[in-house]
Amino acid sequence: MTEVFIALGANLADPKLQIRNAVQALQQLPESEFIACSPLYSSSPMGPQDQPDYVNAVAKLTTHLSPHALLDEMQRIELEQGRVRKEERWGPRTLDLDLVLYGQLIIQDERLTVPHYGMKQRAFVLVPLSDVAPALTLPDGQKLAELVAACDCSTLFRLPD
Ligand code: ATP
Ligand code: CA
Ligand code: CA
Ligand code: CA
Repeated sequence: MTEVFIALGANLADPKLQIRNAVQALQQLPESEFIACSPLYSSSPMGPQDQPDYVNAVAKLTTHLSPHALLDEMQRIELEQGRVRKEERWGPRTLDLDLVLYGQLIIQDERLTVPHYGMKQRAFVLVPLSDVAPALTLPDGQKLAELVAACDCSTLFRLPD
């Protein structure tokens, strides 16, 4: 059984509802136990600015699924919630699920980079991650709390519960 963290993001078709529905779907994952979800945040989009703000959260689970089986399930949930893959990088989407951490495992293959390559620079990942795992240390030994202290949170806002 491995502790995993999944970043959720949405900026189309009632993003808060998309996140809530995704949490429900994560609660149904096979061979897994849903532990917690962070509060919801809003953040400015990365890349193209001509799109709505995002709603973000991070979920904590334990699972017996392999990393790739878990990614399969995450991509199934994205598709079930109407994700359409487009050419444009970081374009708007109903739901994005990124595998941030899979225990202390380091994975580098054609489908998966874990820890997620962008997590250390992204306030919308670091801050909700620290809500559900304040004492976390990354596989490279870096403390999450130090990354949070150093990150630019100027366009991240916690949404009311
Ligand atoms: P970013 O990865 O910069 O956040 P994105 O989430 O918009 O951008 P996607 O189009 O959702 O990117 O995913 C592109 C591919 O990234 C997926 O098909 C998947 O195989 C791969 N990928 C690699 N590492 C991960 C990971 N840790 N979690 C989710 N997908 C990953
Ligand atoms: Ca655009
Ligand atoms: Ca992403
Ligand atoms: Ca993604």
